[in-house]
Amino acid sequence: MAKRDYYEVLGVPKNAQEADIKKAYRKLTMQYHPDRNPGDKTAEEKFKEVNEAYEVLGDQGKRTRYDQFGHAGVDGQAGGGGFGGFGGGFGGGFNVDLGDLGDIFDIFGGMAGGGGGRRATGPQKGESIRKDVTLSFEEAAFGAEKEIEVTRAETCSRCQGTGAKEGTSKKRCERCQGTGQVKAAQRTMLGTMQIAQPCPDCRGEGYIIEQPCPECGGQGLVRRRRTIKVKIPPGVDNDSRIRSTGDGHAGVRGGGHGDLYIFIRVRPHEFFERRGDDVYMEMPITFVQAALGADLSVKTLEGEASLKVPEGTQTHTVLRLKGQGIPHLRGGGRGDQLVRVIVATPVKLSAKQKELLGEFAQSSGKENYRGDQKDGKKGFFERWRDK
Ligand SMILES: [Zn+2]
Ligand SMILES: [Zn+2]
Repeated sequence: MAKRDYYEVLGVPKNAQEADIKKAYRKLTMQYHPDRNPGDKTAEEKFKEVNEAYEVLGDQGKRTRYDQFGHAGVDGQAGGGGFGGFGGGFGGGFNVDLGDLGDIFDIFGGMAGGGGGRRATGPQKGESIRKDVTLSFEEAAFGAEKEIEVTRAETCSRCQGTGAKEGTSKKRCERCQGTGQVKAAQRTMLGTMQIAQPCPDCRGEGYIIEQPCPECGGQGLVRRRRTIKVKIPPGVDNDSRIRSTGDGHAGVRGGGHGDLYIFIRVRPHEFFERRGDDVYMEMPITFVQAALGADLSVKTLEGEASLKVPEGTQTHTVLRLKGQGIPHLRGGGRGDQLVRVIVATPVKLSAKQKELLGEFAQSSGKENYRGDQKDGKKGFFERWRDK
């Protein structure tokens, strides 16, 4: 079943102030409280839904994440899963840690920040940010420095993240004695159960800000647009991921920043195709070049290189330009450039040319079409002709 939008559940607009969210929450929990609606299943469901919505919208970190990623950004938070919505995107491929190129890190460990069992009042690491970046074929091959625009939560500099106005401080919440949690009775099929809920007075923070900081409205966090320079190492490919440590959202209560993850896409090249760290291309040659051999100039990633086509080269032979491919991501050399030569048949021959080819045909015999395989086995043409 699709989950309802949390703002809709609480009946508040997307830009609602914290106080309005709290007010709506109180009103609805009173309305649907199991004590007031004994045996009413619908009310019970509503009560749960309202609590779930408030658990997210009443927490600045979670609300930011919800605004950005929807339910996927906050689902499974209580169970410790964290960032369930990213599950698909993070499977397969490999990751590049900018700090240490040799390190393939555990993405789930890195993203969830120790999700489960986290106390609402403890330090909480900021959420990570995902950005997709499309590179040209050459940028992926040789690396690039990219400027990435992010809008992220940052610690409010005016109140240093406390959320309290200058000269004031926050007070311990009396209702929950600073624990951030209150016990509430909830009727279930198994009877009445005591469940812990975020304290409605302090939104689970354990303290109350009487005079909020005017800059951040008491949240301790502000949204800022930032341009972050990220170095993309040479050799990345589609589905490579770069982690820029500490460039994600600010945490709360001194929890530190999350990370910035850059997901790489590479635009296809007009001539080249990537095969691992080799670049592959096809090139037409004339049948004369194929027969007599030739030194040709071919396009490479960095310009041009000369390619020796040996005498008697068969069509579709793959020739190799050593070290002209993509640098290995882990360092130590480069792949090769593979050039498949395709022999072109001449057309629009003049009478003179036809005569010359006729002469050539007459003068050539079986031995001219032997050994189109280097290892001495019969080649395709020979096998076919022998039948
Ligand atoms: Zn502030
Ligand atoms: Zn409280």
